[in-house]
Amino acid sequence: MTDNFDLEHIWHPYTSMTQPLPTFKVKRAYGAKIELDDGKTLIDGMSSWWCAIHGYNHPELNQAVTDQLQNMSHIMFGGLTHDPAIELGKILLKITPPSLDKIFYADSGSVAVEVALKMAVQFWAAQGQPQKTNFITTRSGYHGDTWNAMSVCDPVTGMHQIFGSSLPNRLFVAAPQTKFHEEWNPQDIAELEQAIQQNHEKLAALIIEPIVQGAGGMRFYHPEYLRQAKALCEKYHLLLIFDEIATGFGRTGKLFAWEHAQVEPDIMCLGKGLTGGYMTLSATLTTKHVAETISRGEAGVFMHGPTFMANPLACAVALKSTQLLIEQDWEANIKRIEQQLSQHLVPLNQLDYVADVRVLGAIGVVELTFNVDMKTLQQQFVDRGIWIRPFGKLVYVMPPYVITQQELSDLLEQLVDVVKTLQGAH
Ligand code: PMP
Repeated sequence: MTDNFDLEHIWHPYTSMTQPLPTFKVKRAYGAKIELDDGKTLIDGMSSWWCAIHGYNHPELNQAVTDQLQNMSHIMFGGLTHDPAIELGKILLKITPPSLDKIFYADSGSVAVEVALKMAVQFWAAQGQPQKTNFITTRSGYHGDTWNAMSVCDPVTGMHQIFGSSLPNRLFVAAPQTKFHEEWNPQDIAELEQAIQQNHEKLAALIIEPIVQGAGGMRFYHPEYLRQAKALCEKYHLLLIFDEIATGFGRTGKLFAWEHAQVEPDIMCLGKGLTGGYMTLSATLTTKHVAETISRGEAGVFMHGPTFMANPLACAVALKSTQLLIEQDWEANIKRIEQQLSQHLVPLNQLDYVADVRVLGAIGVVELTFNVDMKTLQQQFVDRGIWIRPFGKLVYVMPPYVITQQELSDLLEQLVDVVKTLQGAH
């Protein structure tokens, strides 16, 4: 199945060029289905890494792109503006924390994180505190693959040792330990409190994925952690950055994960589901206070401006995708998916090689006691007509919200069957 040119010349995410993992060629995708080149159809359990929330080839999203294409696919954002960026901005300000007021559009999630970190540094520099340049974060986080985004990823899974001293040194504390549904353990915040107390003079911000730590381990933690973290940031003068790139647009059962804790950040990053997975776009939002402080600084401006900033095609489809989401009863739909995920996955807890099963919103995670053999497992899933890409000890699903009850049952039945066959494989 693997294409020879692809195998020999094209790099895939996190793969070797001498021992590349197999790839499956896709002919087309529609709804929650992926059709391979050989005609085989797979039910999608990944939403293309959190982003294809409305599934593939959605008629209304297609139309939004086609309509925008008639006007312009791109135009520079320096000195020019356009309706897609403006209308998208209006809707984003309506659905994100009330204190957020200014929007910076960029190309990808990683760049949104770079922008957030730069905003924090410029914010303090503008107030005569140029020493506040470093960042504190928790372990098991993931914020992207560009230089500074990578520097705040978990140092172990983010492979910091490969990059050595070329990577800025950030401050790490243990990942939040109290699980989402557990009783809050006040000790959980102690390390963060101590680290901030001792280092606040050089810290610009705390950056964290609210409620769900995604690629760093698919961990769901207690909302109280965010409330206490916010209080610490206020007490010791740090900005609070929420990376909602994975958690945004309904995935956790709330429109955005901050709502679980009712804690508003100073800066928030959006990406992935923003365009319904049609193309790459991100947005970094901040408060009037942060934006105006930066603007009063020595530079007088915020120092960032990518070529494809606010790409009109991407903004047009993001606007339509966001409208589609909020105009439907998305909450009931996510609940339906959540219930089905729980019903099928929770019984796997009985297997002695399953360490944990957890479900939140439209995210279902089966954590094993051993690392899976991705190549073998992936093939088994494909043979059974489902698309799931496990990593490390984790077999997880986050389906497109358009997945039907029947499709989701089929997907989960096959997944459960495969996990059961892992008995003795470790
Ligand atoms: N932050 C989080 C929480 C993410 O999950 C990701 C992508 N997995 C990123 C940032 C980086 O986004 P991108 O891949 O679009 O650069």
